[in-house]
Amino acid sequence: PVGVLAVVGRPNVGKSTLVNRILGRRVAVVEDTPGVTRDRVSYDAEWAGTDFKIVDTGGWETGVEGIDSAIASQAQVAVSLADAVLFVVDGQVGVTATDERMVKMLRKAGKPVILAVNKIDGSNSEYLTADFWKLGMGEPYAISAMHGRGVGDLLDVAIDQL
Ligand code: GDP
Ligand code: MG
Repeated sequence: PVGVLAVVGRPNVGKSTLVNRILGRRVAVVEDTPGVTRDRVSYDAEWAGTDFKIVDTGGWETGVEGIDSAIASQAQVAVSLADAVLFVVDGQVGVTATDERMVKMLRKAGKPVILAVNKIDGSNSEYLTADFWKLGMGEPYAISAMHGRGVGDLLDVAIDQL
């Protein structure tokens, strides 16, 4: 069986954009409106000769209601079924309370987590990435899902965890 990589994070951080970038085609739905991906959707992917499944999610947008709603979410299910988790945060927004709640749930899940700081579109915004060390999820990888920057390096790390 191939490894499963779940992509989770707050609404609008660029999860679906990243999934499309990884797939090399536009399949996952990208919207300026938060909360478009309501379910979890699995796609067949390949990187550096390794086949894997990538699961796009959106369920955690209800996280404002607290941990109970989040536990019931599809994102939580996706994490429980995954071999590793790509945790996407927004480098232009910084660390939020919802990010911190997600960290707690990810710790409980006990799966390997790779932290992707998205929307780092220009080299002058590199410093924004360092702030995410405080989440305690290891090295924050700066990426731009929109432009493709850093995505290859991120996948190299993620594939190693599958
Ligand atoms: P999701 O809700 O996490 O799946 O986020 P989406 O993939 O739907 O993207 C939400 C918004 O962020 C869209 O307007 C995207 O175009 C934008 N976005 C995604 N990735 C990037 C990026 O790397 N840089 C910038 N500037 N915007 C991005
Ligand atoms: Mg989405």
